[in-house]
Amino acid sequence: MIKTGDEYRESIGTGREIYIDGERVGDITKHPMFAPIVDIRARIYDLAHEPGSQEVMSYVDSAGERNSIANKLPLSQQDWHDKRTAVDLVLDEARGVVTRVGDETIGEMWALYDGQDVLNEVDPRFAENIRNHVHRAVTADPFHISANTDPKGDRSKRPQDQDPDMLLHVVEETADGIIVRGAKYETAAPYATQAFTKPTIANWGDSELSDYAVGFVLDLNAPNLKFICRTGFAGRRAAADYPLANRVDEVEALVIFDNVLIPWDNVLFYRHTRAATFVRSTLHRYSALPYVHRSIRFADLMIGAALWNVRQTGLDKNPAVQEKLAMLACYREGIDAHLTAAIATAETSPGGLTMPNQSLLYAGRVWAQTQLPQMMHWARELCGGQICITPDSATFAVPEAAPWLEKYYSITEQWQSDDRRKLLAFARDLLNSDYAGHRLTFQLFAQAPPFAHYQAVYRNFDFDGPLGLVKAAAELSDRVEEGSAG
Ligand SMILES: Cc1cc2nc3c(=O)[nH]c(=O)nc-3n(C[C@H](O)[C@H](O)[C@H](O)COP(=O)(O)OP(=O)(O)OC[C@H]3O[C@@H](n4cnc5c(N)ncnc54)[C@H](O)[C@@H]3O)c2cc1C
Repeated sequence: MIKTGDEYRESIGTGREIYIDGERVGDITKHPMFAPIVDIRARIYDLAHEPGSQEVMSYVDSAGERNSIANKLPLSQQDWHDKRTAVDLVLDEARGVVTRVGDETIGEMWALYDGQDVLNEVDPRFAENIRNHVHRAVTADPFHISANTDPKGDRSKRPQDQDPDMLLHVVEETADGIIVRGAKYETAAPYATQAFTKPTIANWGDSELSDYAVGFVLDLNAPNLKFICRTGFAGRRAAADYPLANRVDEVEALVIFDNVLIPWDNVLFYRHTRAATFVRSTLHRYSALPYVHRSIRFADLMIGAALWNVRQTGLDKNPAVQEKLAMLACYREGIDAHLTAAIATAETSPGGLTMPNQSLLYAGRVWAQTQLPQMMHWARELCGGQICITPDSATFAVPEAAPWLEKYYSITEQWQSDDRRKLLAFARDLLNSDYAGHRLTFQLFAQAPPFAHYQAVYRNFDFDGPLGLVKAAAELSDRVEEGSAG
């Protein structure tokens, strides 16, 4: 069943305890730092109902119910093409990049679907809960997010040897469920429906950590949750000068679990380091694809901003400038190629789903993420220094300054000062502003830290091919395989 935008707004407007920018938030749907992103999420819900976009955003299942394409279990390559088309429509509507709006994190539930047998073997108590939640994720149209990262504290010490709340843990079992305590960093938590909450990357080899090896679906309306947010970028400065910050900022929160009851029905694994390790190792096998897909849109925005800039000054005829634009295009096409190939050579997952080729997908994530700082730098270079020295729109309106700005910011008959100012403001917000810096950090960290991206490649690349080639080419004996530590 697909929700409407209004139903979504109602579902989050429940008086959650949210703090931002030095104040407690009243109506989150109207607060200037939340309203733009809440509106985008509501719009995504409404797109699934509107005749012009319904078929892109939703489908009718075998029971005759209409559900969201984003939440559909991937059963074919076509499902992945459909999901990518739906994401593109969302990004077109947003006119910027939004990532954590649900479709990117729901894939964690499909990884859980794949892991049912293993988790069942580890601890059969929660098999039915997993089945129910996977089903709900497909049919209840939740705005589903991801909660992994604890504040962690001093990593040289075990959690038991410091304030134990540095990692989320169970403090009590009751007839109704478990009581958990701790905190997690979560993008979108103040305005989402539910979070798949599980341990962060940690040394799970130590069985004493079992109180910390817990995974559950968190209802973000649960009592005793507090959402302490970083200051939003929207509403701080004029939208004419910071168009992206005002339109597509996604707000992170430190979510405090001050003894939160998790009903038994929502518990997915409990007191099992093996289950925690397993869930972590397969977590992004689907969700990496929509995450990396966003990098293509970000690259397109960089290419567009850079090309408009060099075009208006006639620099696009210069071969050295063309070369830089081609480098940006190679970056963009490199990401697209990884994702397209990952779908074209998709594998069948342990649970029978269509899983993007893991080696190509994770290599694509590393390509997109490691090259991004350099690509932003080239785009910035092509835009020229004026992106950081141009006055704001208010100054363009001051009667004494306006004629001068009009004179010096008008280049040709086609490119008058107003359009040039707008383009420079857009490029600044994409590449130079505090929002732009935040976005770069988001791309590096929001799914996992960069070292974990490389570890995923290491775990999924087939090293047997190169080993076999060299063994044959160098005429190595079979003994080397017996002597291999790996
Ligand atoms: C904008 C943004 C949004 C986010 N959204 C979410 C979210 O929605 N949900 C969520 O759960 N988390 C989210 N995160 C958190 C993110 O997943 C973490 O930042 C990330 O896991 C790294 O953890 P940390 O910040 O505690 O860094 P640390 O663990 O302190 O690591 C810092 C650095 O130390 C080095 N390092 C640490 N450990 C190792 C190791 N074992 N091997 C090699 N190097 C190591 C690496 O260089 C690493 O980058 C978000 C983060 C950002 C910045």
